[in-house]
Amino acid sequence: MPLIESFTVDHTIMKAPQVRKAKVMNLPKGDIVEVYDLRFVKPNTTPMETAAVHTLEHLIATYMRDKMDNIIDVSPMGCRTGFYMSVYNENKKEDIQEVLIYALKKILETTEIPGATEKECGNYRDHSLVKAKETAKRVIEGFENGNKN
Ligand SMILES: [Zn+2]
Repeated sequence: MPLIESFTVDHTIMKAPQVRKAKVMNLPKGDIVEVYDLRFVKPNTTPMETAAVHTLEHLIATYMRDKMDNIIDVSPMGCRTGFYMSVYNENKKEDIQEVLIYALKKILETTEIPGATEKECGNYRDHSLVKAKETAKRVIEGFENGNKN
């Protein structure tokens, strides 16, 4: 399977926030899977706090699916500077960014974290809606200021 790029990207010149098409996989039967880098924080500056990342993970996964039915997975990067989103079929980076901003705006008005009970989540105590909202606000402002690509 051909990979466009992965760890070959130079993180020292990476801007944030930005949406980047990180990978396109052409599957044997003709299907396409894409992986997007939803970068919230410039690499090797101050990463997001784990509680914020965790809450954002729950909320982004929920709200982006309002607008897209081809999302396979949204998962946090271990470096806590962004998320990976896997989707099937071909998409435009600009459309993904629009849906991401929609989700972040929804987060600002959220009062409850979905799936954050002991039964539903692997670390239900490690959540912060306040910090998730602070991060969402910062990322929205970053996109609005054109600090992308
Ligand atoms: Zn969880």
